[in-house]
Amino acid sequence: MPKITINDKELLVPSNITILEAARRNGIHIPTLCNHPKLTPSGGCRLCIVQVNGIPRPVASCTTPVTEGMVVTTSTTEIEGLRKLVLELIISDHPNDCMTCEATGNCALQELAYAYDVRGLEYPGERRIYQKRDGNPFIERDLEKCILCGKCVKVCDEVQGVEAIDVGYRGFKSKICTNYEEDLNCEFCGQCVAVCPTGALTPKQSAKKGRYQDIKKVETVCAYCGTGCNITAHVKDNEIIKITSRPDTWNEGWLCVKGRFGYKFVNSPDRLTKPLIRREVQFEEVTWDEAFAYAAGRLKAIRDKHGADAIGGLSSARCTNEENYAFQKFIRAGIGTNNVDHCARL
Ligand code: SF4
Ligand code: SF4
Ligand code: SF4
Repeated sequence: MPKITINDKELLVPSNITILEAARRNGIHIPTLCNHPKLTPSGGCRLCIVQVNGIPRPVASCTTPVTEGMVVTTSTTEIEGLRKLVLELIISDHPNDCMTCEATGNCALQELAYAYDVRGLEYPGERRIYQKRDGNPFIERDLEKCILCGKCVKVCDEVQGVEAIDVGYRGFKSKICTNYEEDLNCEFCGQCVAVCPTGALTPKQSAKKGRYQDIKKVETVCAYCGTGCNITAHVKDNEIIKITSRPDTWNEGWLCVKGRFGYKFVNSPDRLTKPLIRREVQFEEVTWDEAFAYAAGRLKAIRDKHGADAIGGLSSARCTNEENYAFQKFIRAGIGTNNVDHCARL
């Protein structure tokens, strides 16, 4: 393990990591916009620059590997000035729409502008204007707020394996493009939304539903399948308005389209809230006691007349492990048959 020094602190770190990773592991903050711990580094935003003894110019800490005896300084007057310059240049081509932006309060660019006191257009000039809005059902793509960090492209490729988007064009015209610049048509996992550091990618379903600071976050588990991803429900006025997932959970913050966007059923007025029994062709609302007595009576009558193997149980991947365990126990020990199966076995 190489011994390195960061900000006068001697550290033993693994040999195959970058300066940024070494700093992160030791609680030393270096600002970035384009780096994500789970994605390959690109060295694109130049905010993570640091001074390394013996190297005349600052280097990007996200792409520079640690070496034995390396001495690193993460903050100097020159480095902080360069970081501020980078931010001023980014913000010179940015709508500065924080008053109405969905990302306000949860935007890495806004946080850095605050920290470095970047107030407005230091370098006024041509700005990118994109009128076209994407007609896809889930993700608002506001390319004027895009800082071309590339994280959405990387996560779509490296985590999701879909490659639905890429950087198109060159220079000032560069932008994140879909195939033939048509509306986004992909798996809609929303991983790109999760890693976007600005308001360039936001969930359409959450638009105008509430400011970040007014939201109550409730940790829970997705009930769509037996994988059991951890999810965070963002709740306002007793309504779920967004789902995210924390990167420190076992699914590492990644979700599928159902887990991330399929939550509207929770507040749907169409939801069944009382048991129903079908009498002839009509369903009739009954109490839980009536429903249990009816189901138990019918199962018992079938078993008495035709034997336990005339009954079979099919359970659901949308139930928890515990519910499925209780169900098979009921079929085997309660009814007396091994005719039990599970839809996930398809
Ligand atoms: S993306 Fe961030 S900095 Fe840009 S307008 Fe929205 S909140 Fe403000
Ligand atoms: S939603 Fe998922 S599949 Fe679609 S572009 Fe974003 S990361 Fe790629
Ligand atoms: S859309 Fe977001 S994640 Fe993608 S490049 Fe732009 S700012 Fe980065």
